[in-house]
Amino acid sequence: MTDFVFPAIAIPSVEVVGSRQRFPVRRIFCVGRNYAEHAREMGGAPPEAPIFFTKPADAIVPNGASVPYPSRTSNLHHEVELVVAIGRAGRDIQLGHALEHVWGYAVGNDLTRRDQQAAAKKAGGPWDIAKGFDASAPISAIRRVSPDDPHSHVTRGRIWLQVNGEMRQESDVSEMIWKVPELIAELSVYFELRAGDLLYTGTPAGVGALQPGARIECGVEGLEVLRNTISS
Ligand code: MN
Repeated sequence: MTDFVFPAIAIPSVEVVGSRQRFPVRRIFCVGRNYAEHAREMGGAPPEAPIFFTKPADAIVPNGASVPYPSRTSNLHHEVELVVAIGRAGRDIQLGHALEHVWGYAVGNDLTRRDQQAAAKKAGGPWDIAKGFDASAPISAIRRVSPDDPHSHVTRGRIWLQVNGEMRQESDVSEMIWKVPELIAELSVYFELRAGDLLYTGTPAGVGALQPGARIECGVEGLEVLRNTISS
């Protein structure tokens, strides 16, 4: 046992569908502007290569939990996303082998201080405050893929988000500009991926503001519905 100067925090982890075991989280990677219509609503063309950013592992929020409205923003936005859970390490992963590194899939909400992001873009500054704040990464339980069933990978299906029962985002995962294998191959050139990494794969159009008290429900076809509320 390592003799720490004070007790280390417990490793963040995510529920697994149909299991009492949990998925330990190492890092959270995210992709920006991965649906053309969302890229347009953000005022830009779809980029020529994936835009990656990160959130701290302990930003995850479990299904059903309440998210405190973050400080220093008056424009907190929701972004429903398909999340890929990595189960096998690799670097410079070849496209044809990328799916072998996927352990499972979940639904995530890439919460964003949109006003802080706009300011950072304008100033050419980093996105950490806009994207990587406390409790900025709600996630559903992870559904494991079956190793012998290629159809257990999520390549299409409705992706949607409602606020207080009103539909805000609705698209299909097949609309992603860079598909899951391409994202894994490209990300693994920049970072050695390890089991426990999560990848939020980008949001479709329809992002918008959340007020304190908002009830958010979101999903991807075939995965658990993610429900969270915003507290004041
Ligand atoms: Mn996002």
